[in-house]
Amino acid sequence: MKLKSILALAAAAATLGLQATPAVAQQKFITIGTGGVTGVYYAAGGAICRLMNKDRARHGIRCSVESTGGSVFNINTIKAGELDFGVTQSDWQYHAAKGTKVFEKDGKHADMRAVFSLHPEPFTVLSRKEANITKFEDLKGKRFNVGNPGSGTRASAEELLSAMGWTNANFSLASELKADEHGAALCDNKIDGFFYGVGHPSANIQDPITTCGAKLVPLTGPAVDKLVAGAPFYAKVNIPGGLYAGHPNPTPTYGVLATMVSSAKVPDAVVYELVKAVFENFDEFKKLHPAFGALTPQEMVKNGNSAPMHPGAVKYYKEKGWL
Ligand code: GLU
Repeated sequence: MKLKSILALAAAAATLGLQATPAVAQQKFITIGTGGVTGVYYAAGGAICRLMNKDRARHGIRCSVESTGGSVFNINTIKAGELDFGVTQSDWQYHAAKGTKVFEKDGKHADMRAVFSLHPEPFTVLSRKEANITKFEDLKGKRFNVGNPGSGTRASAEELLSAMGWTNANFSLASELKADEHGAALCDNKIDGFFYGVGHPSANIQDPITTCGAKLVPLTGPAVDKLVAGAPFYAKVNIPGGLYAGHPNPTPTYGVLATMVSSAKVPDAVVYELVKAVFENFDEFKKLHPAFGALTPQEMVKNGNSAPMHPGAVKYYKEKGWL
């Protein structure tokens, strides 16, 4: 039934002193902010909404996903009350909770609430085969995509550059393409490399590797050591070998976790239903994207969450004995 006819019926029922049916009266809409459609956030949001919507007749919540500019955009848009949930990197959840770095100007996001963490996001540098890049320093003077403003990718790239004592001026071109565009730009010889914080395997990384033989670049050295030693949210990790053609060995780098956040303004019952949908269908959830394969509920509740846990999530985790 069209929304207009539902409203007309409800209005008619109200005039007659009748109650609208509970399903109509209680229908709630929630939106999860994600990232580019070729990334893993979009797949994560889609998986969560799919599991939630299966049970819509009982809880009356309709979940939908929005493709967005990424982590920092999602946090800011939740703060503005225009998104109910968002996926964000654990480094930017941390800084939003403290009001530091890109969040310094607007102060801390006191209403932000953690829900759970998701897959690891190793910082991933991919380069053109012909550019002969074997380490990040080789990108000096080259055309490099630092990511779109609002992405966690961009904000984290700036942290890396500043730890190295570099700025965008160290590249001949510092482009700001979105993640959905950087793979084609690489294969079309418009850029020599890009930076992306993303789960693996990801179609976004696989496509340029298959299409034009793009190469993963290790991200190691004193600047990375300094970053990892100085922050609780960074860890040294490997992009596992064997995930992508031509990359049988692990690629060393460092990274963060993807996390789900919400707002204290989102009702406890809504957050409770979202976490319940994920954890009651956990085997199905893990199968919806290969980057989710190694997730465990205990780690998702414990790791990567800097903001206070949302009470709706706390209720479910306590029932399960995970908190
Ligand atoms: N971590 C990325 C960002 O916030 C998004 C990754 C994804 O969409 O999977 O920019």
